[in-house]
Amino acid sequence: MIIKNEKERAALIEGGKRLGAILKKLAEKVAPGVSAEELDDIAEQMIRDAGDTPAFLGYTPEGAARPYPAALCVSINDEVVHGIPNESKKVLKNGDIVSLDLGLAHDGIIVDAAITVPVGKTSERDLRLIRACEDSLAAGIAAAVPGGRVGDISAAIEKSFKGTGFAIVKALGGHGVGDVVHEEPFVPNFGKAGTGAELVEGMVLALEPIAAMGKGAVALSSDGYTYRTKDGSRAAHAEHTILLEKRGARIVTV
Ligand code: MG
Repeated sequence: MIIKNEKERAALIEGGKRLGAILKKLAEKVAPGVSAEELDDIAEQMIRDAGDTPAFLGYTPEGAARPYPAALCVSINDEVVHGIPNESKKVLKNGDIVSLDLGLAHDGIIVDAAITVPVGKTSERDLRLIRACEDSLAAGIAAAVPGGRVGDISAAIEKSFKGTGFAIVKALGGHGVGDVVHEEPFVPNFGKAGTGAELVEGMVLALEPIAAMGKGAVALSSDGYTYRTKDGSRAAHAEHTILLEKRGARIVTV
């Protein structure tokens, strides 16, 4: 989506603020013994209480055989993204890491964000993986400037992971957002600066670096949504929706 006027801009920013607040609340609820379904219920209720609509519930991404059945994606440990919270009993255990990915539509504009949260006491390495994703997201956001290229973001994210020992999950990446959940341009988490689609003022993007402790190859599970690492290693994910303003990117999902 390209934001064209102040009304759209205000709706995007308000929706982003609401989504950011819900994710913070969900992160506080994460604890051993809490189920993925409980988190999904809380997320959906908070979205609806504010008068908004869950963006993932009922959404069918390109290539999917059926609509997504929940408001929230809950991906635990080797689950990379799009873990379904409400079709099997998934209970968080001490030492897990869990990514929470949520989208909502506010005044017709869709925002999308994700965080990875440690459950109880996790290892130092788990925390480093989570931090590496957050750092690379910040690097990608800093590189998102009107007049630049999508590849500037990709290269900044890739560079940020150098030396961390973690592998970028190259099969997945960021995307345009706003009118629908996934739009052009695709934003790979690796690449060459100065290449790809031009970044223009008003553009709305969801940047989402995803990384794993092992090799970073992923496979889609039989539920049609849950991606897991092929080697069973843990993965983490960090995502913000951003708006490209004249001087640079504004994070809307804070
Ligand atoms: Mg996304």
